[in-house]
Amino acid sequence: MESYNTAELQATDAKHHFHPFTNHPEMHRKGTRIITGAEGVYIYDSDGNKYLDGMAGLWCVNIGYGRTELAEVAKAQMEQLPYYNSFFQSAQLPAIELAELLAEVTPPQFNRAFFGCSGSDGNDTVIRLVRYYWELNGQPDRNVIISRENAYHGSTMAGASLGGMQGMHAVGGMPIPNIEHVDQPFHYRDENNLSADEFGIKAAQSLEERILKVGADRIAAFIAEPIQGAGGVIVPPESYWPEIQRICKKYDVLLVADEVICGFGRTGEWFGSNTYNIECDLMTLAKGLSSGYQPIGAVMVSDRVASVIDQEGREFTHGYTYSGHPVACAVALKNVQIMRDEKIIENARDNVMAYFHSQIATLADHPLVGEVRSKGFLGALELVKDKGTRAKFDDKGGAGIACRDAAGENRLIMRAVGDSMIMCPPLIINRAEVDEMVEKIGLSLDQANAALRGH
Ligand SMILES: *Cc1c(COP(=O)(O)O)cnc(C)c1O
Repeated sequence: MESYNTAELQATDAKHHFHPFTNHPEMHRKGTRIITGAEGVYIYDSDGNKYLDGMAGLWCVNIGYGRTELAEVAKAQMEQLPYYNSFFQSAQLPAIELAELLAEVTPPQFNRAFFGCSGSDGNDTVIRLVRYYWELNGQPDRNVIISRENAYHGSTMAGASLGGMQGMHAVGGMPIPNIEHVDQPFHYRDENNLSADEFGIKAAQSLEERILKVGADRIAAFIAEPIQGAGGVIVPPESYWPEIQRICKKYDVLLVADEVICGFGRTGEWFGSNTYNIECDLMTLAKGLSSGYQPIGAVMVSDRVASVIDQEGREFTHGYTYSGHPVACAVALKNVQIMRDEKIIENARDNVMAYFHSQIATLADHPLVGEVRSKGFLGALELVKDKGTRAKFDDKGGAGIACRDAAGENRLIMRAVGDSMIMCPPLIINRAEVDEMVEKIGLSLDQANAALRGH
C-alpha cells in the first residue's frame, strides 16, 4: 500500500482548502481525516486504517466502491466526446440513452429528464419549473412552494430556502420569498401521545392548514423527501403519505418528491415514491443516480408538466453548462444498468434489508437508545438520557457527537444529526458486514454511554 505523510497533507489542506459543511475552528484543531482509497463497503485513510462506510459516502455510493466498469466508460466517453452541451437544440448520445433508461425505471408518468450536476441545482430547477408551469397555465400567482421544517433540499440559495434548517437559513440570508414550511412527521418527538397513524395524519394536515391560510390559488407545489434523510432519517407513519396525496389532489398542488436519497434502491424499491405509493409530478434525482462516481443530478418531468411546456412554452431560459454532461451521463447510465442487470435493489431487499432491521432493532435495549427507526437501508438511533421521559443530555447534540467520535475510533463511519445516529450503507452490504456494523455501533454506544454518564 502507498504511504502518505498525513501531517503534511493535513497542514496543506488546512492552509489552502476551504471546506464545505465544516466547523473551521474545530477542523484546524483536530485536522481532517484524509481518505485515499475504497473497495466494496470499506474506505481507507492516509494512515492505512480501514473503515466500514456506514454512510455510503454522503448517502450516494449505492453500488459500492471499486466498480472499474464505471471508470472504463468514463475513459471511453472522454476519448469519444469529452464535452458537448445540450443547449440550443443539441444533444449527445449518453444523455439520450440515460434519459431513456430513467423513463423506464421511474414511475410511468415520467418520460422526460432535465439534467444538472447535483441535487441542489435540481431543486433550483424545480422552483423555476413549477412557477413556469403555472404561469403557462394562466395562474402566475401560484408561485408559493411549501416544504417542511427540518427538510434538506440542498445548499444553493434555492435548495437551502426549500430546506427547513434554521442553521442554514442563518448563513446568507434565507429563505428566498414565497417559500413556506410546515410540520415534519417526526413521531418520536411528538408530545401529544398520539398513535403513529394519528400523528401522521395530523402532520400531513399541517399542509392543508397552510394551503388554506395562504390561499389555494397561490400554491404552486409541495416538495418533500419520501423519508427525510439529512434531517435525521425521519421515517413517516404509514398514514402520512396517503393524506399528503389527498391534500395535493384536492387543491391541485403539484407534488414534488425529492428522491435524492431515497431514489435508486435506498428504500428497497427503485424510488421512495414506489415504496410509499406517491404519485408525484416532479422528482429530483442525484446521489445514487451515479452512485457518486460522477457529479450529476436530474429532474424527472411528468407528462402533465412536460405537455404544457411543449405546447405553450417559449424559450426555457434555464440550464447549466454541464447539463447532460456526456461523461457524467455515461457513468450514470452504466451505474443504473448495473443496478438493473445485477438486481442490486432486489438482492438488497430480499436478502439483507430485513436482516439489517432485525439487527439494529436489537440496539433498542441499549440504555442510550430511545428509539430505533429504519426503512430499507436507512436507519437511525435516537439517543436519550432517559428512555422514559425521552429527555436528551443537552441541546447541542452532545450524545450524538460522543457516539460518532467513538464510532470513528472503532473504524465505522456513522453520522450524528443532533442526537440521531444515522446509517445509510451501500446497497451491496452483506449480512456479515451488517454484523460488523452493528457490533461496532454497540461498542460505540457503550463507550459514549460511559463517557456521557461519567463512569
Ligand atoms: C443531498 C441532498 C440534496 C442536495 O444534493 P447535492 O448533490 O448535495 O446538491 C437535495 N435533496 C436531498 C434530499 C438530499 O439528501
